[in-house]
Amino acid sequence: MGVWEPNLLFAAMAAVLGLILGSFYTACVHRYLAGQTLLNPRRSACPACQAPIAWYDNIPLLSYVLLGGRCRACRQPISARYPAMEALSSLWALGLALVYGPGAEFLVYLAFGGLFIVASFIDLDSYILPDILTLPGTVAASAAAVWVLGLGWKGSLLGAAVGGGSFLAIQRLYRAFRGQEGLGTGDVKLMLLIGALCGPLALPLVLTVGATSALAASLAYVLKPGSKGMQTAVPFGPFLCLGAMVEILFGRQFWAWYFQ
Ligand SMILES: [Zn+2]
Repeated sequence: MGVWEPNLLFAAMAAVLGLILGSFYTACVHRYLAGQTLLNPRRSACPACQAPIAWYDNIPLLSYVLLGGRCRACRQPISARYPAMEALSSLWALGLALVYGPGAEFLVYLAFGGLFIVASFIDLDSYILPDILTLPGTVAASAAAVWVLGLGWKGSLLGAAVGGGSFLAIQRLYRAFRGQEGLGTGDVKLMLLIGALCGPLALPLVLTVGATSALAASLAYVLKPGSKGMQTAVPFGPFLCLGAMVEILFGRQFWAWYFQ
């Protein structure tokens, strides 16, 4: 087995594909937050000075490093969101390639990882998980679960019902007892999608990873100087997405280890 072992070549190609997709995801997030569509305007521009971005300044990760994280025209800093999303997307594609290899599962999880990354970064910025992602995403997740992932329509439906239903119940209880919003309706719809995609048996790991990482991030927020203490709003969506992505990459190994 040399350097040209097929799986390594596929993994390398997947990592590059992930970088290119990541660049597209940054455009999706920026344009959603700016209220633009994907087709209008046709070309990307610097948010600070509106200078059009040339192709050689739009190469994922590389351009950010070469430009020192600043716009070529106005030298204003470029948001770290761009390289972060590109690196994350590349790592996701690489991980999927190594775990699943080439095939329909790889493509399905690649697409849903993209949806998770875009939804998470919109949520981090605006505390909104757009319906335009979660609702069609749930329908697509059910179709993929039945036709590609072998979950069966009962597994997918049960996953959506348990995932979305439990979150709806927590939301209602929180509202009744605390008189304020603890969980957004966007989180309920996201759990509908994750349940439909991964099935009911995946939910314990998704929720454990989601809740643990959200708690750790909340503590970091709260302990930061100048924070509003326990009233600090922390979006939950990114952590649920993280939980789903950990489940997709490591779920099988985790359960194999757990039941050993
Ligand atoms: Zn600029």
